[in-house]
Amino acid sequence: MFKFHMPTKLFVGSNCLRENKSQLILGKRAMIVTGKTSGARSGALDEVIEILKSEKIPYLVYDKIENNPEINDMARAGLVASEFSADFLIGIGGGSPLDATKAIAVYSQNPPGVTGEFKLYDIFTGEYPNKPLPMVAIPTTAGTGSETTPYSILTLHKEQNKRSFSSPDTFFKVAFLDGKYTLNLPLQIARNTAVDAMCHLLEGYTNKKSSDGSDYIALEGLKIIGKHLDRLRSGEMNTEACTELLWASTLGGIVISQTGTTVVHSMGYMLTYHKDIPHGMANGFLLYEYLKRQAEACPEKKNAYLKALGIDTLEELRNYLEEILPFEMEIDKDTIEEWSKTAIMAKNVASCPFPITREDEINMYTRSLFR
Ligand code: NAP
Ligand code: FE
Repeated sequence: MFKFHMPTKLFVGSNCLRENKSQLILGKRAMIVTGKTSGARSGALDEVIEILKSEKIPYLVYDKIENNPEINDMARAGLVASEFSADFLIGIGGGSPLDATKAIAVYSQNPPGVTGEFKLYDIFTGEYPNKPLPMVAIPTTAGTGSETTPYSILTLHKEQNKRSFSSPDTFFKVAFLDGKYTLNLPLQIARNTAVDAMCHLLEGYTNKKSSDGSDYIALEGLKIIGKHLDRLRSGEMNTEACTELLWASTLGGIVISQTGTTVVHSMGYMLTYHKDIPHGMANGFLLYEYLKRQAEACPEKKNAYLKALGIDTLEELRNYLEEILPFEMEIDKDTIEEWSKTAIMAKNVASCPFPITREDEINMYTRSLFR
């Protein structure tokens, strides 16, 4: 028996937004949520504005989203959305603006501290007195799969960590997936984000909560990533390949919506918070040590995912990751000990397919990060 839930309507391929304009309009007043440059550089912002103008929908462009969105900034942006009386949101960007859109959707309808009932951190309960605003996603990176997950990952300075929230109402209603929006990504960002997608697919596939339904999709996603490994190495991108990689990333989102991630992600948050390592790169640094332990627990799954990727051995995968992810990080043993205290508390530790202790995490960090 397994349960499968994926409520987002997807439009995929060349010019899917222009050809399905009416699907962008989920209300009467729109707030567009994007990063400082991604909306404009991807070309998606101009297209969205053109459609909103032609449909006479008043809109506000909120282009202040930083990488790894911070919780207080999200509450402030929620206030901007409610002051504008936005009744739907359009998120354009990588995982940061898309996750921010979900947080703004919650906070604009449930402003913390105003009614006295809803508090800033109540966003993590996943239960909201007022329904979050409906949202559209236009991803401009191919990595997080945020367009098809209910998750949003926020930076919490209080905890010196990142933490996710989700609810059935924080799925996007609609997503437009067009490789032309990711075509101009700087190569290192394209690589980091592709590795994030690969991690979602592998962590989902090897997850304790995986099912026949999620496994089937995970292997499909891994085949697509496998097809483009050389391209990610050489940097020779084209729109069609970008759409395929975007689709693989979306499949990764669908998979982790069913399974969640594993310690690769929760351990990776420490690298991002404390060392500013991009999310996908952080996961990529830790992936091999996780897979090595997973393979001891379940070698059949290892054979299946390597075959899907078109790679012969785990060591070959490790070498590939080392080649495309430059490692420039200073680390010491005490820091790792500190990180492991926080990382072992993460809820996805329980989804790991093998038992894992704080000592194990210290070992995984050490083997991955002392190079
Ligand atoms: P990102 O933080 O959204 O963006 C990274 C960089 O790429 C930014 O500088 C961004 O510019 C730039 N960029 C984005 N699209 C571009 C384009 N088309 N052309 C040129 N530059 C572009 O990176 P991300 O890896 O996609 O997202 C990472 C975030 O997602 C993390 O916070 C992570 O925790 C979260 N995440 C969420 C999920 C989920 O299920 N919801 C899963 C995994 C990760 P701007 O600053 O101008 O935007
Ligand atoms: Fe991720």
